[in-house]
Amino acid sequence: MPNPYPKVRLFVESHLEKGASVVREDDAAHYITRVMRMKEGERVALFNGRHGEWAASVHDVRKHAVELRVEEQLRDYLAPADIWLCFAPIKFGRIDYLIQKATELGASVLQPVMTQFTQSERVNEQRLRANAIEAAEQCERVEVPELKAPLGLRDLLATWPKDRILLFADESGRGRALACVLPELKDKPLGVLIGPEGGFSPDERTLLYRIAHVVGVGLGPRILRADTAAIALLAAIQSSIGDWNIAPHFQREGTL
Ligand code: SAH
Repeated sequence: MPNPYPKVRLFVESHLEKGASVVREDDAAHYITRVMRMKEGERVALFNGRHGEWAASVHDVRKHAVELRVEEQLRDYLAPADIWLCFAPIKFGRIDYLIQKATELGASVLQPVMTQFTQSERVNEQRLRANAIEAAEQCERVEVPELKAPLGLRDLLATWPKDRILLFADESGRGRALACVLPELKDKPLGVLIGPEGGFSPDERTLLYRIAHVVGVGLGPRILRADTAAIALLAAIQSSIGDWNIAPHFQREGTL
């Protein structure tokens, strides 16, 4: 019988190839040996964002470290859907949720954007990256979305690639219906932009509508929280023109 898919998946920075040794310390070692109570010989899945996914076995358990030996490749690298999520930082807790869910929904880039009504001045990049890594481990991505340093809205627009359509979620009612816009965007590089809880300012809206590759879209008659809007927009894109036509890779017990 083939080996079952390992229950524990970990993101590592190291090179992954057959026979490589990967040493994890501190939290990861604690998680493997204390939380999951794994013993020598048991298998974990590793990915590093470059070499797909690999099975490794617990080789040596030390006091504050665990050594894993890479055994066989489980999957090739699979590029994420080409969707950049630009979002105005929101408060602690909600922003963590946003990062986790955006990772599960397959955003390839996470770009914090400072707008006029953004209230959270500081972005804890380390915490956000930890959230993205944890969600990527849990949802079986073989890479972690790239978390960019925060940018002001004007800088974002000035440096935005012209061949990438930016769908901007406009709560003013002026945006086009998403169902009409999405079919035109199949197989194109995309970005989405979500405003802060205070919404976009009139000046920002004027600026955004002046740019040819920015398209304002509406998300229905209800005003959504910023985190809901981001998640809903990503899900709508993935469902109609994104990667939801691809099945999960591994067959699971209880599923046929
Ligand atoms: N305070 C604002 C709401 C901001 S909601 C107001 O009362 O009008 C936060 C962000 O979510 C918005 O800037 C927008 O990007 C997005 N959003 C929420 N509801 C939306 C909708 N119905 N259509 C389009 N975007 C929406």
